Amino acid sequence: MQTKAIFTVDVEDWFHAAVMQRHLSTIPDFKPRHRLAHNLAALKDWLEGKGATATFFCLSSLTPEVNAQLRALSDAGHEIASHGHSHTSLSQLNPLSLKQELEISKDILEQLTGCPVRGFRAPNFSITDQAIDAIAAAGYQYDSSVYDVPWHPGYGKLVHQKMGDKPYRFSNGLLELPLSIWRKSGLSIPMAGGAYIRHFPPGLFKKAALQLARAGYFHFYMHPWEFDQDHPIPPKLRILDRVRHFRNIKQLPIRLDALSSKMQFTSIAHFIGEHPTT
Ligand SMILES: [Zn+2]
Repeated sequence: MQTKAIFTVDVEDWFHAAVMQRHLSTIPDFKPRHRLAHNLAALKDWLEGKGATATFFCLSSLTPEVNAQLRALSDAGHEIASHGHSHTSLSQLNPLSLKQELEISKDILEQLTGCPVRGFRAPNFSITDQAIDAIAAAGYQYDSSVYDVPWHPGYGKLVHQKMGDKPYRFSNGLLELPLSIWRKSGLSIPMAGGAYIRHFPPGLFKKAALQLARAGYFHFYMHPWEFDQDHPIPPKLRILDRVRHFRNIKQLPIRLDALSSKMQFTSIAHFIGEHPTT
């Protein structure tokens, strides 16, 4: 049997990315071109061509066209989970607005798909200690926001709860499905996909991913805009941001094909179903 790995998607448009939100806020009246429906359809086709399922962490404030696609994804056996409503980092929300984000997004996505929403992922991995209890209180069964990269300034850092790189439970019983880390020579190297599969040498990423998957847990994630071969480039984007967002974007489908030839991608729901003791 082929080695299995978790495949997750943060369902948002290109202008929701932190780099773009920062840049576009400096351009008054900029009207971004919506690309999500096109990219989501391409990603769905790619997954189905591989016989794979995935978990889609979705914003609940997307267009009616995308909402119809979420229903179709759910009907096709993929898992729909929550990425919040407004894509606001959890550290910027007060307790009431955090509660509302968690409850509103769950409710809207459940009405869209007719299926229970079990999982939550914080925008930009901005998990906080307070959010762990709020996520459980809102009725979620698992979280998938822990990305244990101590040197990354943007990712959330838990102080009172454990940060790990394999499935575990927080002290309140909430299950965590963290993003993958490659521990090498005392370093914590983020190895969960997204930007990293584009920026790292492809041979290195594939080797590390396979090593992790064969050890029992490899969790890959990406955004639909990373699949966009005609991605719009906004004016006056800083060179560093341009590299970060666009580097090797045309290589991603090729690198994903190579990765999927070595492992079978599956959703978190299926992974939990096959590992009932997690
Ligand atoms: Zn996001």
